[in-house]
Amino acid sequence: MNLHEYQSKEILSKYGVAIQRGIVANNVDEAVAAAEKLTADTGAQAWVVKAQIHAGGRGKGGGVKFSPNMDKLKENANNILGMQLVTPQTSAEGKKVHSVLIAEDVYYPGESETKEFYVSVLLDRAQGKNMIVYSTEGGMDIEHVAEVTPHLIHNEVVDPAVGLQGFQARKIAFNLGLEGTAFKEFVKFITSLYNAYVGIDASLFEINPVLKTSDNKIIAVDAKVSLDDNALFRHKDLAELRDKREEDPTDVEAGDAGLNFVKLDGNVACMVNGAGLAMATMDIIKLSGGNPANFLDVGGTADAQRVETAFNIILKDPNVKAILINIFGGIVRCDRVAQGVIDAYNSIGNIPVPLIVRLQGTNAEIAKKMIDDSGLNVHSAITLEEAANKVKEVLGA
Ligand code: GDP
Ligand code: MN
Repeated sequence: MNLHEYQSKEILSKYGVAIQRGIVANNVDEAVAAAEKLTADTGAQAWVVKAQIHAGGRGKGGGVKFSPNMDKLKENANNILGMQLVTPQTSAEGKKVHSVLIAEDVYYPGESETKEFYVSVLLDRAQGKNMIVYSTEGGMDIEHVAEVTPHLIHNEVVDPAVGLQGFQARKIAFNLGLEGTAFKEFVKFITSLYNAYVGIDASLFEINPVLKTSDNKIIAVDAKVSLDDNALFRHKDLAELRDKREEDPTDVEAGDAGLNFVKLDGNVACMVNGAGLAMATMDIIKLSGGNPANFLDVGGTADAQRVETAFNIILKDPNVKAILINIFGGIVRCDRVAQGVIDAYNSIGNIPVPLIVRLQGTNAEIAKKMIDDSGLNVHSAITLEEAANKVKEVLGA
């Protein structure tokens, strides 16, 4: 699950990380009120209007606008709210902007220069450790930096059992070329950021840019968080921050129905109980000359309701030429699953592509007979080989 910039910054603030302060607004009136309140609270002389969508590169797409006065702020908020924002990280049609963050301008002139850094904390699955990735080349597109000047990106591996050590925080501040007040501020910044990352069970906490202001404060100007979905059960408050409007509607529907669904771009859909069997089924599809259109684990209870939701999700994809249902009946008996398939089929009415159903396990023979006798456009199979051959047959391969 991903969070918006304004939500990520609220978390940072709770953990004592200094941030560019801001107030979220859903319309122009709220934007004006937010700007006035910010100025009253922080003395901000100017503001930035920042589109809140789940994608980076908003600045490049025209979703981040500097606003030196109230007229400009109104104009920018009016233009950005409701726009279809296209960035290097969105699809070609972009994402609709439902809200903006009105933030204090932190690039004000002062005694020293401002400087932008890149800092992220993430899970390094290969090492089973956390990692801090950082660079002096912040603000711009970090992928570009990684490609053209990879030596400017540094890693610091953190053992989760001992946490971020003081010497590591100081090493990072030193490598970023900081000194004096800014050095000390950065050590505080990175320590609190690491605590935030661990505290909310994030898999990524990325700050780009981290800004050294002209008066040597270190603050988060942007913030991007990916939470570990498997840990959300112990963060009810964070789970509530989910913005379903930002997610693919099919993914939301599948998630709500308890289906583990990943869309792929092949021509044979599959519906399977168990993740391992789902992977094996995708292999079978490949071996039969097809390509998997999805990964779908319907879980332990493949009842008519779930099967029907799964059918509806699968059938949205115009590339699907056949559907392979592969269920191993253990505690769920095959005859119950067969009944679920038949009921779902009848309830949907007409499934326009051939259906191959392979049921193995408890009461498999009874289930096969039920499918064969149902009179529906369903091919039954018991062995994997039979199922694969049926897929080949219906694809005409
Ligand atoms: P992103 O484009 O989605 O990564 O959005 P960011 O929050 O990183 O903002 C993009 C860029 O806007 C930053 O790299 C800054 O250059 C600029 N920006 C952000 N906040 C301010 C601000 O307070 N004042 C000014 N002048 N520019 C800002
Ligand atoms: Mn950014």
